Amino acid sequence: MGKGHRYHDKPDVDKVIKKLVDEHGWRYIEAGHGYRLLCPCGDDYIEVSSTPRNPSTHARQIKRKSQQCPDRHELSPHPRAKGRPS
Ligand SMILES: [Zn+2]
Repeated sequence: MGKGHRYHDKPDVDKVIKKLVDEHGWRYIEAGHGYRLLCPCGDDYIEVSSTPRNPSTHARQIKRKSQQCPDRHELSPHPRAKGRPS
């Protein structure tokens, strides 16, 4: 994928997705009403809304969820166990 590729209409969300896909090996697919980010470990995914009410909040949620992956694909120093409420 080229550097100029856009994953999402909202720049804030696009930036987070781009980082996960380009630098951390996540996969990005269309799913239902929006998109899904598939974790490289194959166990987890994150729902991405195509029309988030608040793009910057949604971007932060995606980033936080990616850091909660037990396989710490987002390089979180202290990955948390799965299943905790966020
Ligand atoms: Zn994972």
